[in-house]
Amino acid sequence: MALIVQKYGGTSVGSVERVQAVAQRVYKTVKAGNSVVVVLSAMGKTTDGLVKLAHEISQNPNRREMDMLLSTGEQVSIAIFSMALQELGQPAISLTGLQVGIVTEAEHTRARILHIATDRIQRHLSQHKVVVVAGFQGISSTGELEITTLGRGGSDTSAVALAAALRANYCEIYTDVPGILTTDPRLIPDAQLMDEITSDEMLELASLGAKVLHPRAVEIARNYGVPLVVRSSWTDEPGTWVMSPKPKPRLLVNLEIAQPVDELEFDTNQAKIALLRVPDRPGVAARLFGEIARQDVDVDLIIQSIHEGNTNDIAFTVMTPILNRAEAVALAIAPVLGSDNGVQTGEVDVMVEKNIAKVSIVGAGMIGRPGVAAKMFATLAEARINIQMISTSEVKVSCVIDVQECDRAVAALSRAFEVEEEGALSRELLAGGQGGLGVPSGDRGERGAGGEKRIIHFSSASSLPIVRGVALDMKQARLAIRQIPDRPGTAAKLFGLLAQHNISVDMIIQSQRCRVIDGVPRRDIAFTITRMDAEVAQKTLEQAAAEFGWGEVVLDSAIAKVSIVGAGMVKQPGVAAKMFEALANHHINIQMITTSEIKISCVVAQEEGVKALQVIHAAFGLAGSERIQVPA
Ligand code: ADP
Ligand code: ASP
Ligand code: MG
Repeated sequence: MALIVQKYGGTSVGSVERVQAVAQRVYKTVKAGNSVVVVLSAMGKTTDGLVKLAHEISQNPNRREMDMLLSTGEQVSIAIFSMALQELGQPAISLTGLQVGIVTEAEHTRARILHIATDRIQRHLSQHKVVVVAGFQGISSTGELEITTLGRGGSDTSAVALAAALRANYCEIYTDVPGILTTDPRLIPDAQLMDEITSDEMLELASLGAKVLHPRAVEIARNYGVPLVVRSSWTDEPGTWVMSPKPKPRLLVNLEIAQPVDELEFDTNQAKIALLRVPDRPGVAARLFGEIARQDVDVDLIIQSIHEGNTNDIAFTVMTPILNRAEAVALAIAPVLGSDNGVQTGEVDVMVEKNIAKVSIVGAGMIGRPGVAAKMFATLAEARINIQMISTSEVKVSCVIDVQECDRAVAALSRAFEVEEEGALSRELLAGGQGGLGVPSGDRGERGAGGEKRIIHFSSASSLPIVRGVALDMKQARLAIRQIPDRPGTAAKLFGLLAQHNISVDMIIQSQRCRVIDGVPRRDIAFTITRMDAEVAQKTLEQAAAEFGWGEVVLDSAIAKVSIVGAGMVKQPGVAAKMFEALANHHINIQMITTSEIKISCVVAQEEGVKALQVIHAAFGLAGSERIQVPA
């Protein structure tokens, strides 16, 4: 007999008929000999309706009252659902977050779960009842009891957290699509269903806009090794399993806030090439990286900064042994990039930096926990180490620094995050529950000529797709700050301020160009955030800019971010080139580029977002032969 947590989303319980159909499914699971805890979302579009109602009263509703309001949606669905089970003769009881004891931080509208009391649920289960728990809500117990919510889409997180706390055999997320697909089937109907995906890939996809799972649910599944599957509540198809690495032992306290970083990596075998003043027009990145791929040069990080005037800077890192080849390509192509139809439009400079190292913190939910990157930057600042390039992703934040500083950086970071650098040695993937899942072996440890490298990648990259999925985020905004002093501590100050307001930052890009103003070298920094946070972030940074003498703060909300994710892209030359080429072929201009080991993101104009997603999905041959039916 298994203990199963089943979560049903809004559409799955959107009507009386759907509630009855889902009750039948739960009833069957119990009759098959299992104990079942059901987690529910509010029925249909109830939460959207409540948000709209609040905005009819107030432009900026009080966050505590928002939680009071939104948490009512789930209370309705759990009560109705328990009644439906009871009608089938199945004993059931509904419980709110308060009644279960789902304790969260006191952070209204985006609270993280600290602890879940399991005694009451266990007692009801032992009495053969189905326990129906309200998703998305909890209580904070600092001072007086307060109702909190976890953030939109947070019922997935409630379900996986409950599964971890109850040590359930597995957690099933039932939704309105057959599982996790190569992209959103509402935008691309021939998106293909996958049997499985690694938790790192899913974390990236979820945080880059794939709404099918709440990123924090994936984070908990990964950290606690909860077998997790996404399935349709309309069919009996097996759905998609999310595979997590074998977890390190963790306590079930401070569930969503404890130990965000579990490994450190460093790589002293890297060099950086920057091309300055590259014309800002479609096709330039495709041309550059196409040529690089043809020479079989594998690039690691790529960053394209926002443009000043009508030119961009593009920087990338390569392994030292292939630097000469990469530099030759860059030098050969620079004059070509600087001309338009044979007419010279500007001078593209090539800059090579040999003495760099990349240090990274590895974990889950790096973007979702804004304090983590800020702490990394602050730690490097305290050690007086300047950051040359930053790459962020949900599973890793990397900084490129001077190679001379690498040892000090690693020592400071391992103290700050309480992790051993040697800890980064092995990583086995654990099959997620039911059989048939591939188990790629972890691989690490390489010493290349002239450098030392401690990095984990999956050696069986051939068994992992190069691109697993494509995501589109149309709810992002870009903030740029001009002329920030280029010295240790700047990134720490900037992102520390945003972290204090709980604002998560995704793509972070420092311009390669440096301008000396009043004797101080200065660069521009740009980054993306969710549009919801844009106003607060802009105000905060404008105040800081006035105080610290930074330049103008520029906000652009009309952007879209399109990303590819795949664990198999590690050490595969040409992946970025293919993505850029797909955009170039459709005359879509790339405004910003950032990469991490398993993702590449491009910012394009908002109105080109959907088109960009479609052409990239097609370019990587991800379409299936069937069209996915999605309920309206
Ligand atoms: P629920 O109410 O069940 O939680 P959501 O609307 O939150 O459902 O999430 C399911 C939706 O996620 C799908 O209907 C689909 O439009 C969207 N989606 C986005 N990206 C993906 C993807 N890669 N795979 C599957 N669905 C996706
Ligand atoms: N009802 C909440 C929402 O719509 C939580 C959820 O569905 O996951 O965001
Ligand atoms: Mg959802």
